[in-house]
Amino acid sequence: MIDRLGRDITYLRISVTDKCNLRCRYCMPEDGVCHKNHADMLTEDEIITAVEAAAELGITKVRITGGEPLVKKNIVSICRRTAAVKGIKEVCLTTNGVLLPQLAKQLKKAGVKRLNLSLDTLDEEKYSYITRIGRLENFRAGLAAAFEAGFEKIKVNAVLIGGFNDDEIVALANLTKEYPLDVRFIELMPMYDSGDFGPDAYLPCSEVLEKLPEAEAVSHDGGVAKLYRLPGAKGNIGLISPVSAHFCGTCNRIRLTADGKLKPCLHAPDEYSLKGLDFEGMKDVLEKTIWNKPAWHGDLDALHRSQAGRNMNEIGG
Ligand code: SAM
Repeated sequence: MIDRLGRDITYLRISVTDKCNLRCRYCMPEDGVCHKNHADMLTEDEIITAVEAAAELGITKVRITGGEPLVKKNIVSICRRTAAVKGIKEVCLTTNGVLLPQLAKQLKKAGVKRLNLSLDTLDEEKYSYITRIGRLENFRAGLAAAFEAGFEKIKVNAVLIGGFNDDEIVALANLTKEYPLDVRFIELMPMYDSGDFGPDAYLPCSEVLEKLPEAEAVSHDGGVAKLYRLPGAKGNIGLISPVSAHFCGTCNRIRLTADGKLKPCLHAPDEYSLKGLDFEGMKDVLEKTIWNKPAWHGDLDALHRSQAGRNMNEIGG
């Protein structure tokens, strides 16, 4: 599936729910999600039909995300059926980790190969502040369960927030010395309503390198992160810079929201509905969506908010 700019689209990110068991300040409002009609959300069968149509067009990798994907009751079944679709080579999942003690082994068995876990701070009080309702010990238990289940790869994602966790860059990076995992720093993206963070909160990833002078560049793994390694570390440091150095020219992804909207770009307002369509109908919409994928996501900084028109929990980060 080549778009009109020659980009090969192989990666589908599916948000299976916009609900979450945390309330991260930059991601979603304190009072949770707007109530949506159950009938407007994609069913499990529709999600699988969408994956089948996408796989026939060339999608090989699927990431399941949210909201928090693990609050979805049928998440294991969705993962198992997605992994079984012909042409899908890799199913990955992004989670806050809280429910992994109950679900990690089942997800692994269902065919999930890689896990990304979100963690913005190693300080208990700050964790409860940024997530509004979370407890760091629950994250730690989730990480332990992920290791025990034996996933192929575990990555920890930390959103860089000036005045909040810039003093923890070294401590977060040092997790790669303690555990066989990658730590990725992601620039805070100014979404529709991404909390009350002022311009100083938007730190470029170059800040990370300044704090880690001993980090050495290592070769790229095909993802969006620039990779580095600390001496003696078991995993890499990744820098993801959608704001300071966008990677739209090599973007290979499309997104599907829990209410069935295909988004060719995280930050563009364009949405194409798959809800209620059959396999052939979905294939048509997928083709049009990919063809119309914008060249880039537009200006994005403290003064230029994302044009997505949704918060991150409603798109799938
Ligand atoms: N609930 C899951 C989790 O916590 O990983 C999956 C969904 S969450 C929306 C996915 C990722 O998006 C998380 O790593 C989160 O930190 C990131 N995210 C959310 N809002 C963001 C923003 N405004 N800028 C950058 N990253 C953001």
